Amino acid sequence: MDVTKKFQLAESEIPRQWYNIVADMPNKAKPLLNPQTREPLKPEEMEGLFAKELVKQEFSDERWIDIPDPVRELYKMYRPTPLVRAYALEKALDTPAKIFYKNESVSPVGSHKLNTALAQAYYNSVQGITHLTTETGAGQWGSAMSIACSYFNLNLEVFMVKQSYEQKPYRKFVIGSYGGKVYPSPSDRTSYGRKILKSDPNCRGTLGMAISEAVEVAVTKPNTRYTLGSVLNHVLLHQTIIGLEAEKQMEMAGEYPNKVIACFGGGSNFSGIAFPFLRHELNGQKKVKLIAAEPSACPKLTKGKLEYDFGDSAGMTPLIPMYTLGHDFQPEQIHAAGLRYHGGGQLVSQLKSDGYIDSCEIDQQETFKAGLLFARTEGVIPAPESTHAIAATIREALKAKEAGKSEVLLFNLSGHGMLDMASYESYI
Ligand SMILES: *Cc1c(COP(=O)(O)O)cnc(C)c1O
Repeated sequence: MDVTKKFQLAESEIPRQWYNIVADMPNKAKPLLNPQTREPLKPEEMEGLFAKELVKQEFSDERWIDIPDPVRELYKMYRPTPLVRAYALEKALDTPAKIFYKNESVSPVGSHKLNTALAQAYYNSVQGITHLTTETGAGQWGSAMSIACSYFNLNLEVFMVKQSYEQKPYRKFVIGSYGGKVYPSPSDRTSYGRKILKSDPNCRGTLGMAISEAVEVAVTKPNTRYTLGSVLNHVLLHQTIIGLEAEKQMEMAGEYPNKVIACFGGGSNFSGIAFPFLRHELNGQKKVKLIAAEPSACPKLTKGKLEYDFGDSAGMTPLIPMYTLGHDFQPEQIHAAGLRYHGGGQLVSQLKSDGYIDSCEIDQQETFKAGLLFARTEGVIPAPESTHAIAATIREALKAKEAGKSEVLLFNLSGHGMLDMASYESYI
């Protein structure tokens, strides 16, 4: 029997537009608020922090937004990414479910993050910005921004959560190899960092703290802007390229997913794969169940409260209406550092409260077990973050087996774990 395992698109089939779900949402999300006045934030108020075009996208309700040619050209480095049928995993689980995954691990930095990094660097460079700042957890986002900045000749400063800076040393060398500067956060380079170090010299850092430092530098240094790797609408928008490609590839496979599954940190890879499918449901054409897989150590959608909260620890960002565990929440030091963010963002949170999104929480033991089964069957060692999507998919495949019904499952392999071997070592 000659079966197809990989569904490949041609470069010419890379989408020319991103999909903005805001256009199709039955209930729009509540606005971001200015934290001082508690009035709805005006786009101009965000332009000191982000490139103008990105601010425009943040507030846009246009359904389709053109991908600039220079960005689409750079996407050809690694896009279209393959859609793969996980026959070997299906066999190991002895499940009637058909399992597909979109493999975003093939990007040069090994994750989906480059999809938005290239776009953000581009819009800043055409505006004449010369310096960018950002934070990074495990180092995935910092690596993606670093390569993107080297393409568009921008200087980059990365504040890396100290825990990861020390526990995952290789990613900081990746960031450095592409030309970015990287500092452990909390650092003595910002007044916020110095304040934290004074009260807790051994602080291991959090994403929220690193964001505060990166924002502080962006607003105090000339010709500098800040970039964020998840949570915000424009980031989710850029990631929809994943789902738009997957949609065409599922068509090639002659299937439509009953369930679309992704791990959830701030929602970018989840929204990226899920929103293009959800649009069919919002238009009344199809039914699809979306599952966000969260770590038990940081289950904002599953256990958080829907309320206005800050995006960072210091309370410097606008107030965001979202499911949150609180901006001062300090999650346990799990290996999936990219999932240790406290909030779920504006769009996902609204869609979740309207019943379009399900979430589940999974503990670290179960995710690594799933990750190893995936490695031993499909060959790719998944990022600790991505193992959450795999574990959730395995749960669904085993449910299908119990119920004796065939189902089509699609999950996003957000990244590989080749730089996370220390995490695997401690599990094994
Ligand atoms: C950053 C990261 C995540 C989590 O971020 P989201 O915005 O929730 O997608 C997941 N997987 C990988 C590989 C990452 O690098």
